[in-house]
Amino acid sequence: MSRPDEPGPNTRCVRATSSPHAPGEPLSPSPVFTSTYHALPVGEAGDFYGRNSNPTWRALEAALAGLERAERALVFPTGMGAITATLRALCVGGTLLVPSDGYYQTRVYAGERLAASGVEVRAERCGAFVDAIRALAGAPQPRVVFAETPVNPTLDVLDLRAAAAAAREAGAILVVDNTAATPFGQVPLDFGADLVVAAATKGLCGHSDITLGYVAANRADLAQAVERERTVSGATTGPFEAWLAHRSLATAALRFDRQCANAQAVAEFLSGKPQVRSVRYPGLAADPSHGLAARQMARFGSLVSIELASIAAAQQFLARSALFAEATSFGGVHSTADRRARWGDAVPEGFLRLSIGIEDERDLLADLRHSLG
Ligand SMILES: *Cc1c(COP(=O)(O)O)cnc(C)c1O
Repeated sequence: MSRPDEPGPNTRCVRATSSPHAPGEPLSPSPVFTSTYHALPVGEAGDFYGRNSNPTWRALEAALAGLERAERALVFPTGMGAITATLRALCVGGTLLVPSDGYYQTRVYAGERLAASGVEVRAERCGAFVDAIRALAGAPQPRVVFAETPVNPTLDVLDLRAAAAAAREAGAILVVDNTAATPFGQVPLDFGADLVVAAATKGLCGHSDITLGYVAANRADLAQAVERERTVSGATTGPFEAWLAHRSLATAALRFDRQCANAQAVAEFLSGKPQVRSVRYPGLAADPSHGLAARQMARFGSLVSIELASIAAAQQFLARSALFAEATSFGGVHSTADRRARWGDAVPEGFLRLSIGIEDERDLLADLRHSLG
């Protein structure tokens, strides 16, 4: 949500990509900071080896922390890199609750890797998640709740304030995956989350040309634990990717505003169509999550999920569309569509997750009209 005492999201994006001291930080790729072609003074905190930290990461991390209203952010080469490092750092030996209807790779990692290393893994769908958090009281410590909202791909919304209160009562750490909403859609730390993780691969970087993840936190102890995991496990971001991601942030709020406005128009357009069995978009007044979304989200996101009658109807849609490329991932400037059942999500065969880009609204609606046949 915008605060009266701070600049708007576009100003914050543009400011987050410039430094008060220099017009943009130089790219610092050297692992040991002694190369002659590397002009920065040696000796800044952490700058003795590239796996620990480097100035290019820190410039990006400061920008991401600002957007998530966190004290500290840490970058990772992918969203999953951020998520798995966080879970390894926080929940080994304890209990982990994950969404059963959220992003599938998180569940896969928890079930395949963490459960095998002794973590008690529980899963619950978004609609019953707060009760499942309450039920963690008494479970083996440490207790970690990994929440996602809106859940990808069904777009149900979780009540973040209630989740944070339940986690506090149950003695659990609350981690929120903010990939779909982005910090322009919601700021989970404002609602009491302990940590935010996200794939900047999606809307934040926004050009479908980079993978990147981050963790953001206000609690120094948690940030240090995750940083320690990053340093010792060594899955770190290349400086060039960090620099490119930082450059992409300048237009992130601008792109997201346009995507959300287009998504609203697309959701409303599709709601009335006989070929479409159902539409989920938190911004639709008739959506089951709308009341909750309106309380905690500043923008409702770039994803619209629809159900067509069959796999054949979905495939025909994908074949006819000129503007929706069939592709997984989401959040880019180009509109894309993904038939999620092909990845094993528990959704009907004709279910499509649409990621709405920055094209002109009338062109998107004309393309949808044609593609639905
Ligand atoms: C894509 C995604 C991730 C993983 O990000 P990668 O950069 O692909 O590793 C995590 N969470 C959600 C909600 C996602 O959509």
